[in-house]
Amino acid sequence: MLIDTHVHLLGHRDRPATRENIRLFLDAAVRRGLSLIGFADHEEYIEDMRPDLIREVAGEYPGLRVLVGVELDYRPGEEARLRAALRRHRFDFSIGSVHELEGRALDLTPAEADALGLAPDELYRRYFACVARAAKSGLFTVLGHIDLVKIFGVRPTLAVEELAAPALDAVAAAGGAIELNTNGRYKPVGEWYPSPALLAAAARRRIPITTGSDAHAPDQVGREVAAAAAALRTLEARRLDW
Ligand SMILES: [Zn+2]
Ligand SMILES: [Zn+2]
Repeated sequence: MLIDTHVHLLGHRDRPATRENIRLFLDAAVRRGLSLIGFADHEEYIEDMRPDLIREVAGEYPGLRVLVGVELDYRPGEEARLRAALRRHRFDFSIGSVHELEGRALDLTPAEADALGLAPDELYRRYFACVARAAKSGLFTVLGHIDLVKIFGVRPTLAVEELAAPALDAVAAAGGAIELNTNGRYKPVGEWYPSPALLAAAARRRIPITTGSDAHAPDQVGREVAAAAAALRTLEARRLDW
């Protein structure tokens, strides 16, 4: 069972959700041998997503389960706005992702995180505190790339599984799930999200885990999800039951 539940059909507004473009992604999913593909475009393009068209085109692919979700930016205090957006659009699932801290985007340039003026341990602590709040909100099916803060290679001095314990405990207590997101391999940090130590810590807590490529183009659909699934088997991790 190969699953990719983090696919950006629209990319960063690189293409519209036309029948032809939807088919490009679904064809790629079939070529990779996926049994399930979940679209999760960025919330800012919510009006361009066309879930009904995706579901209609999915009917041409009887061997492939197709879900339509959304990747929401989580910022503390915006829970009501997110809840309203989810109620309005009736997605199959939602990914809650922390992409910024105190107004600074963490995944664009290293300078943005530097501008926060935080030592690495404190940067990580605040990032995981934000992930913990996202989990406690109960808004999300999956917490996205839970250690995105490492993207440019900044590492804490303390053990990352200790720093992340509040976030992992919150996910477990809330009955939430996380993803093994393979896209980190193609970022400066050069490894999946989350790191092996965090993944093992999540598996020990019996947190359900899904796999996602974070594809922003058809040729990235399902990228490394077979290897990710193998890693989860090695850990005897609980898989998220879709
Ligand atoms: Zn993201
Ligand atoms: Zn994404």
